[in-house]
Amino acid sequence: MYRVEMLNIGTELVLGETLNTNAVFLARALREVGLPVQRITVVPDDIPEIRTAAREALARSDLVVATGGLGPTVDDPTRRALAQAVDRPLVFREDLWQDIVARYRARGREPRENARRMAYLPQGAHPLPNPVGTAAGFVVEADQGVLLALPGVPREMEAMFQEHALPYLRRRFTLQGRTVRVRTLFVPDIPEALVDERLGDLESGDNPRLGLACGPEGVMLRLMAQGATPQEAETLLDRLEAEIRRRLPWPVQTVPEQGS
Ligand code: ATP
Ligand code: MG
Repeated sequence: MYRVEMLNIGTELVLGETLNTNAVFLARALREVGLPVQRITVVPDDIPEIRTAAREALARSDLVVATGGLGPTVDDPTRRALAQAVDRPLVFREDLWQDIVARYRARGREPRENARRMAYLPQGAHPLPNPVGTAAGFVVEADQGVLLALPGVPREMEAMFQEHALPYLRRRFTLQGRTVRVRTLFVPDIPEALVDERLGDLESGDNPRLGLACGPEGVMLRLMAQGATPQEAETLLDRLEAEIRRRLPWPVQTVPEQGS
């Protein structure tokens, strides 16, 4: 299985001004195609912070998906920081610049000097077109791993991911149509140790995988399975759930997935 990490960039995110919905969207979308995320890092719009986080994530992973800070404003240092993280210079792309100029003119405006920033990409990067905005995203196939940069605006990020990043990922990684499904069960009012005693051996499985998390009101059971098709993954989850229910003498509830 590939190791995947996410890097959400934005001062507003670390200050608690903006809810990191991009992380939720991408974590789900990536696991649906068989690229479940192992770690999510959030950093402010600060070159050293972004560069260090991206370097570390790339050193650990096959794929790092970054979001945020691709726009033309000065407080968007993502491009420069990510270029540094993969040890490449930023290069001006005349083709991207022509696209940007055309987009501005289509709205009856002339691009200002700062819009030129959006025409720079790390050397050797492939641009990802922005279906609903101006700033392109990009992919760098670095020695350390694949780095994908998407915009911060959720609408732009989602459109670019679906239309351009996902087809790229399907070509680049051998996903064999693998998909990851998750299911959450809840055992109210029972101490974690008692649940763990009966399910311990199931927790060491890789596929399906079972994780326990205890809360104030009971124990959460997080089930995860990979399959060549969604049905295959669901079947693995069904079997694991049946086994859990067979072993536990207490009521087990199914928790609906949030916000979907
Ligand atoms: P822009 O051209 O608008 O500057 P950008 O790619 O530079 O686009 P950011 O400046 O990082 O994007 O963010 C733009 C807006 O998108 C932010 O004000 C914020 O509301 C939203 N946003 C950024 N990151 C996230 C995130 N991880 N989750 C949800 N919303 C986000
Ligand atoms: Mg911005």
